[in-house]
Amino acid sequence: MESAQVHRYAHNFREVQQCTLLSIKTGGCSEDCSYCPQSSRYHTGLKPHKLMTKDAVMQAAKQAKEAGSTRFCMGAAWRDTVGRKTNFNQILEYVKEIRDMGMEVCCTLGMLEKQQALELKKAGLTAYNHNLDTSKEYYPNIITTRTYDERLETLQHVREAGINVCSGGIIGLGEAVEDRVGLLHTLATLPTHPESVPINALVAVKGTPLQDQKPVEIWEMIRMIATARIVMPKSMVRLSAGRVRFSMPEQALCFLAGANSIFTGEKLLTTPNNDYDADQVMFKILGLIPKAPSFTEEEAENCDEAVSTSG
Ligand code: SF4
Repeated sequence: MESAQVHRYAHNFREVQQCTLLSIKTGGCSEDCSYCPQSSRYHTGLKPHKLMTKDAVMQAAKQAKEAGSTRFCMGAAWRDTVGRKTNFNQILEYVKEIRDMGMEVCCTLGMLEKQQALELKKAGLTAYNHNLDTSKEYYPNIITTRTYDERLETLQHVREAGINVCSGGIIGLGEAVEDRVGLLHTLATLPTHPESVPINALVAVKGTPLQDQKPVEIWEMIRMIATARIVMPKSMVRLSAGRVRFSMPEQALCFLAGANSIFTGEKLLTTPNNDYDADQVMFKILGLIPKAPSFTEEEAENCDEAVSTSG
């Protein structure tokens, strides 16, 4: 398998990054993403929650760190953060504190303006997630409330602020194989390859327009991961939503094909995920090693300064 060769050439193939994704503000989103139970337009029975308090977020980050996670990602169901100054400032504080715990920090908060990206960078953000979801051509079938170009613009703001770009997509939305190629082509021809590329298999949630989509087969997932690995050799390719449906041998094939990152923790925003203990058993059986966090020298210095001046 060509992707396995590329993977071994560009990475330590045993190393797998463990990220934890926490929904810090859930539901009530004004967007119409057809796959998403957090959109206020669909009746999925999801209970909306306001922004979580600092104590609750720190507690979750601590627990994730203790369970071996090295990257903590906070997700908020917003179209964007414009006009949410108080909440945004709170999130900047969360970012700083989690970074000071020695974890990589990622956020996914919707569309970002240039200034907000700069502020997140200053707070110590490692990466910002904003998925392209699918190809530019298929995109209008899935979302109508924001354009593909607006998504690309957010990625530009993130990149220009010096934050790592995390961007990938979802398969199983009813797209053609060409759309999967189109998505990977767009990602691979950005000015620089995204640092991380989450590959999600749709989790069809009752009440969303995509509730009746048939589940993605493991071979489709493997093919998508393998192609992402070949066209973006150095990126972290993350086996993301839908992993809970795959057996350990199936996940092993995904790692072999080039996946080197997973989300750990019982929930992936609002849908179920594999639990920590099951993942630790899988790491042991497959001989996988947790990837240590990595920071640029500048980031490490900032963190040392923050630690030595705190308290
Ligand atoms: S994917 Fe994000 S932007 Fe779209 S409806 Fe869900 S929370 Fe809102």
